[in-house]
Amino acid sequence: MSGTIFLSPPDLGPLEESYVMRAVRSGRFDPDGPEIGAFEREVAQRVGIGHALGVSSGTAALHLALLAVGAGPDTVVVVPTLTFAATANAVMYTGARPVFIDCEPGSGNLDVALLPDLLRRLGTAGQRVAAVMTVDINGSCADYGRLLPICADAGIPVVEDSAQALGSTRDGRSAGSFGRVGVFSFSHNKIMTTSCGGMLVSEDAALIARCRHLSSQAREPVAHYEHRDVGYNYRLSNVLAGLGRAQLCRLTAMIDRRRAIRERYTKLFAAVPGTRILGDGDPGSNCWLTSLVVDSPVAGWSADQLGGHLAAHDIESRPMWKPMHRQPVYADHPAAVTGAADRLFATSISLPSGSS
Ligand SMILES: *Cc1c(COP(=O)(O)O)cnc(C)c1O
Repeated sequence: MSGTIFLSPPDLGPLEESYVMRAVRSGRFDPDGPEIGAFEREVAQRVGIGHALGVSSGTAALHLALLAVGAGPDTVVVVPTLTFAATANAVMYTGARPVFIDCEPGSGNLDVALLPDLLRRLGTAGQRVAAVMTVDINGSCADYGRLLPICADAGIPVVEDSAQALGSTRDGRSAGSFGRVGVFSFSHNKIMTTSCGGMLVSEDAALIARCRHLSSQAREPVAHYEHRDVGYNYRLSNVLAGLGRAQLCRLTAMIDRRRAIRERYTKLFAAVPGTRILGDGDPGSNCWLTSLVVDSPVAGWSADQLGGHLAAHDIESRPMWKPMHRQPVYADHPAAVTGAADRLFATSISLPSGSS
């Protein structure tokens, strides 16, 4: 082992090993293996929601969720510009076009104040909005108390990209349960991992059934191979579902660890002028990552410089995501921006936050 401190490394031990070995020894490697169904039920129970579908990645889950709410050619989807590219890419897979929206400077989550005007302008331009996507940044839930009524009034479903927020809550409700459909990721650096994997959750049984169908090549339930839709090979592996069940047993303890790390950073930087923690003071956050926002004229140093200093000490950190409307691939897409995401990109750094 080197002495490197990583940003968000996987946290696995003997429990995971035993669950994976049990899945391997069961001889079940098909997409109807028993670990998958059990994992789906356990995640649904943890989130407090009716239905769940395990899939091969968070990105696959986003793709299916968007298809299920009707995203496709001749529609647009409102996407927070401050996110990982997968959120916007999933929109493109459906043939819909993303329209980017800026974030609140405090939390990095979708700036709800911009939404009514954006929806009005899209309506006036004759655009059909298939969905509004939210991203629960670093594990902090977006402001659903203000966002959901706006979307409900407009008759637009919310697709919640909760890839970072499994186990988080806001106003007593779980991340993933606010939208018409919610999505989790179990990729290698998330709060819990199956190496590759994701899950959709919803109260809508028909929506989850539709996604399940599409995720397994849209094969009709007849003996011969009959297909009425173009399907996908998006199911989760039974072995990885076993890994996920073990991680889920430890989720609460892993969140407690990440919260304790956040608490230490908060105490440390409270004494450092010109710094604040992104999404500070959110009691429901799972604290997946702790990101520091640096006001360099006040601090006398920049987020970039801190990153360089940490790297020199074998400590991994990384900048906030470059906003989607700044990405070459999305440069020609419309965006309702205030400059908040640009400023966070220029001034933030994510610090080692892993529970291991
Ligand atoms: C990790 C992540 C994804 C993608 O999940 P994968 O499992 O890696 O496909 C999507 N959206 C956000 C916000 C993420 O952080």
